[in-house]
Amino acid sequence: MRTVLPEPLRPLGGLAQNLRWSWHQETRELFQSVDPEGWRAAQGDPVRLLGAVGKDRLAALADDRRFLRRLAAAAEDLADYTSGPRWYQEQTDLPAAIAYFSPEFGITFALPQYSGGLGILAGDHLKAASDLGVPLIGVGLLYRHGYFRQTLSREGWQQEQYPVLDPNSLPLTPLREADGTPARISLVLPGGRSLHARIWKAQVGRVPLLLLDSDVEGNQAAERDVTDRLYGGGSEHRLLQEMLLGIGGVRAVRAYCRITGHPEPEVFHTNEGHAGFLGLERIRELSLDGLDFDAALEAVRAGTVFTTHTPVPAGIDRFDRELVARHLGDGGELSGVDTGRILELGMETHRGGDPNLFNMAVMGLRLAQRANGVSTLHGAVSREMFAGLWPGFDPEDVPITSITNGVHAPTWVAPEVLRLGAKQIGQQRAEDALMIGGTDRWKDIGGIPDTAVWELRRELREQLVEDVRLRVRASWRQRGAGEAELGWTDHVLDPDILTIGFARRVPSYKRLTLMLRDQDRLMRLLLHPERPIQIVVAGKAHPADDSGKRLVQELVRFTDDPRVRHRIVFLPDYDMRMARLLYPGCDVWLNNPLRPLEACGTSGMKAALNGCLNLSVLDGWWDEWFDGDNGWAIPTADGVTDEDRRDELEATALYNLLENQVAPRFYDHGSRGLPQRWIEMVRHTLTTLGPKVLAGRMVRDYVTRLYAPAARSHRAIQGPAAVELAEWKGRLRRQWPQVSVDHVETDSVEGTPELGSTLTLRTQISLGGLDPADVDVQLLSGRVDTSDRLANPTVQSLKPTGRADISGRHSYEGPLTLDRTGSFGYTVRVLPAHPLLATPAELGLVAVPPETEGMTAGILR
Ligand SMILES: *Cc1c(COP(=O)(O)O)cnc(C)c1O
Repeated sequence: MRTVLPEPLRPLGGLAQNLRWSWHQETRELFQSVDPEGWRAAQGDPVRLLGAVGKDRLAALADDRRFLRRLAAAAEDLADYTSGPRWYQEQTDLPAAIAYFSPEFGITFALPQYSGGLGILAGDHLKAASDLGVPLIGVGLLYRHGYFRQTLSREGWQQEQYPVLDPNSLPLTPLREADGTPARISLVLPGGRSLHARIWKAQVGRVPLLLLDSDVEGNQAAERDVTDRLYGGGSEHRLLQEMLLGIGGVRAVRAYCRITGHPEPEVFHTNEGHAGFLGLERIRELSLDGLDFDAALEAVRAGTVFTTHTPVPAGIDRFDRELVARHLGDGGELSGVDTGRILELGMETHRGGDPNLFNMAVMGLRLAQRANGVSTLHGAVSREMFAGLWPGFDPEDVPITSITNGVHAPTWVAPEVLRLGAKQIGQQRAEDALMIGGTDRWKDIGGIPDTAVWELRRELREQLVEDVRLRVRASWRQRGAGEAELGWTDHVLDPDILTIGFARRVPSYKRLTLMLRDQDRLMRLLLHPERPIQIVVAGKAHPADDSGKRLVQELVRFTDDPRVRHRIVFLPDYDMRMARLLYPGCDVWLNNPLRPLEACGTSGMKAALNGCLNLSVLDGWWDEWFDGDNGWAIPTADGVTDEDRRDELEATALYNLLENQVAPRFYDHGSRGLPQRWIEMVRHTLTTLGPKVLAGRMVRDYVTRLYAPAARSHRAIQGPAAVELAEWKGRLRRQWPQVSVDHVETDSVEGTPELGSTLTLRTQISLGGLDPADVDVQLLSGRVDTSDRLANPTVQSLKPTGRADISGRHSYEGPLTLDRTGSFGYTVRVLPAHPLLATPAELGLVAVPPETEGMTAGILR
């Protein structure tokens, strides 16, 4: 039950229900003043606060003119924020709405529906979309237990608790039909069962987030449990969750738009493969309109964006094909759609693929005309990894682009940092710097004096130290220690010592325990008489991952050692609330994944926004933006296949950096008593990384590079146009075996050709039953590498020179300009061409001269 607020305080309810409070400090301060004691007890959760605050206090506030003025101002500010025009409203030709699907959303600790980076990223995506005015609808599941809470046993073994969340005490409202009944959606399951779900809405600034909840009357016990917890259960359980998310999610979006009048999405964005079934549901919808499978597939692909998030196999869902067929085929959900065609979509045809498995990422790529990885390096790794889906193409031509992740600065920048920034450049400009970015705004922050930077760093470190002491004590109490044995916890960490943070989930590639490789050496670093370091570690292992739990235990055991326990701590139950103190409070953020398995990583970005320096393997975002002055790169032993040896080499490199570079610089206090070179690095980090790592930058990139083109394709590829495109593709695929490059020649050259001279290139192409308008014949030229392959060639389209000859061959020609000396090469290729293709590689079809396999047809030296 919710508290009924006295009439003058009603706006408090609206402020509590809109999660903008989670990134809006002024709103939080308003709630705090409702009842400072209650605010602490509610741990900063406005819904809990309002549920607990006493009648007398409410009556007093309802009479407090000053409070009511502040309340009115806050409510008005929120109304302006949610209704006024923002960046998106200044652009043209953009989608009317975008639906964004994700299995988890990390918006605030008060809505614990996330396990790690993927969810936090999704939350940051919604918040930044809200700030920019992007008309996004988020879609996810409401897990009754969320993700687990972590504690430790006496022996340091991870224990999981699954608190029961009551949706009525979360910042959620049920979506209701016009007549007041709760809106519901249903899915058909095998054996005549059905899966019902209701729809909750969280309001994230301007953005609604729809969360499906299967714990409803009308469901059998097993179906009620479908949304029991995040990433739990066996294969069938996961499949049901993903059917509910993808198929049910589309139905929830339709219900939401019907009820509220919100424009229908023109673009569907799936955050990793888990929600991929959304494309199948839209194919089903279109087949009800009379489109056949192929045409519906084209129409759906046009408006779909797929983001792949990991090159780690365990991060990608793969189901037994038979299981999928049983649930989606005859008698199951989607029984109107050709099951064979559905199964083809998830078939692993790439390197190392297993023909018996249905791969959600592969289906995601096939159901989306546009796809991306989440950093430049991860884009390249993904193109390589999935190249088999576009046979005949070099990995660099595989149509997976990249947009580097970002983080929502208003959420992740500590209030103290914002305050100092505002003092330097003004409140409005500082807020704009966080939300909008702008290199100039960030550059001006660089004017903050050294002393102020250093005092800020100390203040943040001290706050962290205080929080760590409370947490270490609580954890030891929980592990069974008595108060009397815990005096030492008052002296854990020191606010003047170089503080290093490492917190993340514990899959093996993140190498939680790399720092323990040489325990004696680590101990010497921790206890160094002049230049000690201290380390704060946190992270949850997946509940089913015993090897991850062993790593946690190994680390905990080390931190339990009385010789070092004041210098290194493991904090249980890493979550967003801990994160918000941890990143700002650390001087150095450590990241040592096995390169290139960290697709992007975002915690280091959040750290950077608070003036913490990164010390990381060149993986994910750091590979892109490390510039030599904004932190340190841990050298990697990339080619070394023996993992143990590789760990050894990389751990040694890490210790060396800490000992010889990081610590000396931190403790190098010059004549003014300040570590000037360190402060310079902090300043450089803030001013140059600040504008890049923003989620606002990321969402603008998505809008301009993926959503807007996808919306244009969606509008162009509907109904008859979709039918035509599908037929054209079918024809191309059938005829392609007849397409060949039969002959390539240039003018003959005597002696060495001169730089800048132009030759004529001629080629003969067989097109089988295709027309020259169906293809693009391209001349590629430029430098060749040592294996005679063209590197970054110049590409130009050739023109046909008249009709086909008697044998049906077409001649093409064009100028070949020798624009470089050394080894200059050229070749010809034929690609499908159609104005509605997003990229010429889309069909995976290409023809090259025989015997060359895409290498050069000719070389001029
Ligand atoms: C940012 C964040 C993550 C993700 O961090 P990575 O560096 O991507 O591993 C995980 N958990 C929490 C609580 C976070 O805030």
